[in-house]
Amino acid sequence: MSAPIPPQAKGKNLRACLLCSVVLTPTDFRKIGCPNCEEIMQLKGSPDRILSCTTTNFDGVIALFAPDTSWVARWQRTTNYARGIYAVHVKGRVPDDVEAELENRGIKYRPRDLTDQD
Ligand SMILES: [Zn+2]
Repeated sequence: MSAPIPPQAKGKNLRACLLCSVVLTPTDFRKIGCPNCEEIMQLKGSPDRILSCTTTNFDGVIALFAPDTSWVARWQRTTNYARGIYAVHVKGRVPDDVEAELENRGIKYRPRDLTDQD
């Protein structure tokens, strides 16, 4: 049994955050940034950042309603991992500068696509 997919996740033109896998429209990313990792990703108002830090290359979307089990919630040490739609598989890696920023914060980056051979 998988969670029902809200209608807004069924459209086209959605993008998934490479760091936390949240799925939003490019417009949402531009307006509000990533609800989870905006502090690091800085997507808000930056179409270029949105292109390099999010991807259309994802599949399998799930509705997340138990945020406290996620690794993002753990590294943020909060429970405010936004409820919403998340991709199950996301292809690609965050840009080097984001990875470096994560390292600076003592966060181990885990690519969402574990099959990536690079
Ligand atoms: Zn994110």
